[in-house]
Amino acid sequence: MIGSSVVFRTRSWIVLCLGLLVVGSSAALAADCPGHPDALGTSRTLVVDPREHPRIGTMQYRETLPLKDHEVVLTFDDGPLPKYSNQILQMLADECIKATFFIIGEQAKANPEGVRKLVAAGHTVGTHSMNHPLTFDRMPIEKAEAQINGGIEWTSAAMIDSSKLAPFFRIPGLMRAEGVENYLISRGIQVWSADFPADDWRHVSSGRVYQLAIQRLEAKGKGILLLHDIQARTVAALPKILRDLKARGYRIVHVVPATADRPATPTTPLEWLLHPPTETVPIARWPAVPNFVFTQTKTLPAPSLADLDGQTEHQPLLPRKTLALANVAAALPVPGRDLFAIPEGSVEVLLSTTLSRRAATRLAMAAETPHAAKGKAGKSRGHRTAHAAPAGAKHAAQATSTAPRSAATKSATPKSAATHPTRVASLKKRTQ
Ligand SMILES: [Zn+2]
Repeated sequence: MIGSSVVFRTRSWIVLCLGLLVVGSSAALAADCPGHPDALGTSRTLVVDPREHPRIGTMQYRETLPLKDHEVVLTFDDGPLPKYSNQILQMLADECIKATFFIIGEQAKANPEGVRKLVAAGHTVGTHSMNHPLTFDRMPIEKAEAQINGGIEWTSAAMIDSSKLAPFFRIPGLMRAEGVENYLISRGIQVWSADFPADDWRHVSSGRVYQLAIQRLEAKGKGILLLHDIQARTVAALPKILRDLKARGYRIVHVVPATADRPATPTTPLEWLLHPPTETVPIARWPAVPNFVFTQTKTLPAPSLADLDGQTEHQPLLPRKTLALANVAAALPVPGRDLFAIPEGSVEVLLSTTLSRRAATRLAMAAETPHAAKGKAGKSRGHRTAHAAPAGAKHAAQATSTAPRSAATKSATPKSAATHPTRVASLKKRTQ
């Protein structure tokens, strides 16, 4: 009893001490964010070595940042655009949050001051190509290299100290390609995808952006959130997202690249997997190239007919039956005029083409004499010889079936047909 009481007391002390530690860290965060005692804050800085983990983000890759449960990394693409980027900078400052920005070269060229503000505020700055083409998955590698280098050149040129540029790159529209990734990796640049977007480049409300950000984060429990600092809806949604992250107990992690005097945070390989594999839960992965389009739609070319590659791409969508009919129609020759001619005096043809099967049988029975069946079979054979086309053969087969089987199978002489010409005429009259 005494022993268990000691264990219990020891455990209580541990819990109490941990509680004090948590309170202590919260107090430190509030103290670090003057004027904002309730700020979300940045809980820790994660130093990563791009050469050790060259591709990150489970939307496309196996690995992602080694985050703990309820840790979030905020990323913003496509800026800086003063109108919106400055507002986002202010919101992050008010919450004492450090994020990662992926800059477009053209934007840096047009607004170098915006890049300097990001660096001055202590955010991480990576690049996002020169002018955001959404064709990285199919453009020649030389063009991709020029896009990558143009973005790096103009973003670093905007900085007072170009060593502040992080070797982080996000492919526009996440249109990844092996060659592009290999080029980036060969230069020691880390390829960043994301763990979840909030669809803020789409025409959705800011409320929807907030909802998606939280829902998708809650589904994974941690990860890299992809946003854009050039969208009004993102500006409108961000305060609510940050407040909700705080209320739900999420913590913000700031990511920086390793340097000679700043070694990478020690991690284990398993920590780079969002959810380490177990026997029952497989790793869910997004397709290699996602089927969505990001911002900068002005750079999207209008599709031409050639792009659609209509014949091969779209034909399988047509119903199979339609295709089959179309093929048959194309393959059959125009029928000859004589195909429709009814041979004069042919009982079989008349019966099969002008009467229902039942009426034909009745008429045939009425008109038959004991040896007329022989005449039928004979005529049928003659008919088949005259019209070798499949349609003629079909008519002949139908005619044969109207006569009793035994009669049809008996061999008959053509003579019998010639001996009863008058019966055919009378039949003709009755069928009209
Ligand atoms: Zn983008």
